[in-house]
Amino acid sequence: MFEVQNQPPPLEPYNLFSSDTALREAVRREGASWAEGELTALGAALGSPETVKRGFDANKFTPQLRTLDRYGHRLDEVEFHPAWHELLGLAVKAGLHSSPWAAPKPGAHVARAAGTFMLGQIESGVYCPVAMTYGSVPTLRHAPGIAKEWLPRIFSRDYDHRFIPANLKTAALIGMGMTENQGGSDLRTNTTRAQAAADGSFRLLGHKWFMSAPMCDAFLVLAQSPKGLSCFLMPRWMPDGERNAIQILRLKDKLGNRSNASSEVEFLGAYAQLVGEEGRGIPTIIEMGNYTRLDCCIGSAGLMRQAVAQAVHHARHRTAFQKKLADQPLMTNVLADLAVESEAATALTMRLARAYDENDEAAQVIRRVATPAAKFWICKRTPFVTYEAMEVLGGSGYIEESIMPRLYREAPVNSIWEGSGNIMCLDVLRALDRTPNAADVLRQELNGKDARLKGIADRLNRRFGAADRSDESQARALVRDLVLALQAALLTSHAPATVADAFCASRLNGDGASAFGLLPRGIDLRTIADRAAAAG
Ligand SMILES: Cc1cc2nc3c(=O)[nH]c(=O)nc-3n(C[C@H](O)[C@H](O)[C@H](O)COP(=O)(O)OP(=O)(O)OC[C@H]3O[C@@H](n4cnc5c(N)ncnc54)[C@H](O)[C@@H]3O)c2cc1C
Repeated sequence: MFEVQNQPPPLEPYNLFSSDTALREAVRREGASWAEGELTALGAALGSPETVKRGFDANKFTPQLRTLDRYGHRLDEVEFHPAWHELLGLAVKAGLHSSPWAAPKPGAHVARAAGTFMLGQIESGVYCPVAMTYGSVPTLRHAPGIAKEWLPRIFSRDYDHRFIPANLKTAALIGMGMTENQGGSDLRTNTTRAQAAADGSFRLLGHKWFMSAPMCDAFLVLAQSPKGLSCFLMPRWMPDGERNAIQILRLKDKLGNRSNASSEVEFLGAYAQLVGEEGRGIPTIIEMGNYTRLDCCIGSAGLMRQAVAQAVHHARHRTAFQKKLADQPLMTNVLADLAVESEAATALTMRLARAYDENDEAAQVIRRVATPAAKFWICKRTPFVTYEAMEVLGGSGYIEESIMPRLYREAPVNSIWEGSGNIMCLDVLRALDRTPNAADVLRQELNGKDARLKGIADRLNRRFGAADRSDESQARALVRDLVLALQAALLTSHAPATVADAFCASRLNGDGASAFGLLPRGIDLRTIADRAAAAG
């Protein structure tokens, strides 16, 4: 038997919070330092070997659909491996599905964002029902009666995976169904019908082409009622204790996100209650969309962080050509460049989360304009980061026993889900037009911060001018510049000078983004790579 040599130890156990300098600084800066104790405990729990293994198990033993029992009765149940329930239980116990609503206080959305940022690094599938439940709360509040009944269950931290009526459970989770076979971006094409029933509820007839986490206790669903497209809450069980008429037709065979079930469903007169004003379904459910889009940024920034932490860890232990990989100058450049991208994503995501804790004009503009912008850019960058980080591990990065293939397969989903890239960019144009003072508020975020921002701020200003702002073909360019400018403003104000130098030198001249490892001479690459190490 050969001797195993020159192989790095696994990056476990480790604390995902205390070892992440950029995250800890962002949490303090954005107003959630009070949560550091809880986040440190969560970071340790997530980084334990047992939890890491659950992430692997939940993706290896994927959910199974049981449509019928052995006698032919409908079941429409999805069975998950125990690891899935343990991970989801951990997330719910930490309040990641609802804590800012259950216990609102300054910094609550930031603290929760830091928690989910860590959760998604270990297992991204469970993040899906966590994100949808979090996002459902402002929409459910449009129906005070429903909110009174459901919010206490949603606020509970006592995860209950049993498939029984929600009123018999210790906690409830919420999913959503918008996308239909004929269209997911253009929701006005939804064909599912809602018929009013004598008791004031509705019966839904139709289908959804994607409905993830179908074992949630209820779903926010769009359907055409007599007054137009409306939003409904559709529970898995009827008030009389019978199963609701929701048939799960099949589970999607997905590229990644494999621990999570995403289903195709048919509604055969399913019981549902109206949420918000009849005929105003899209504005009602879009409130949920804002929060789930924030979660796409958090989830993707977390994937980047995990990829970079693994890459730096590997390179600090593996030797090639008589030196640690991290000490080979070209590898140091790759690691530093990856670390800069990850830190920029972390900083912007946490700044965005703070806008959900505040309510002044700046916060409203950041929420409305920067959320879709950040979702576009951060989610777009994630596949590149996970791919390059995988290569740092060489052949071992391509092997399923490492987490890298899972991160890579997961990386595109947040860009597609909850509004794909183009839809996000078109939404930014719309938001710029419809949000009072949007361009001025954004200019102020950039103005006078640092001389290096002048070039990108000028370019953005030109784009805010008439032509680009109304030319859809240029929307991606405008949104890219907006995000780069916001990231540069954050890093030049708050990150170590060398990180800000590297970002400005490589990202603001319009030709960044082609590959990693292209940082110019004169930057302290080693310090940047060391800062990203998951040590301490
Ligand atoms: C893993 C996963 C889980 C999901 N879970 C859910 C869920 O739980 N609930 C749910 O409702 N949906 C869910 N979805 C569906 C998802 O939200 C949709 O796939 C997404 O919104 C895109 O819709 P579509 O697939 O119909 O693509 P289309 O609407 O056909 O769009 C295709 C492409 O065209 C682009 N495009 C569309 N219109 C324009 C335009 N005017 N200009 C330029 N480009 C345009 C889009 O950006 C996109 O890139 C899930 C998807 C995935 C992959």
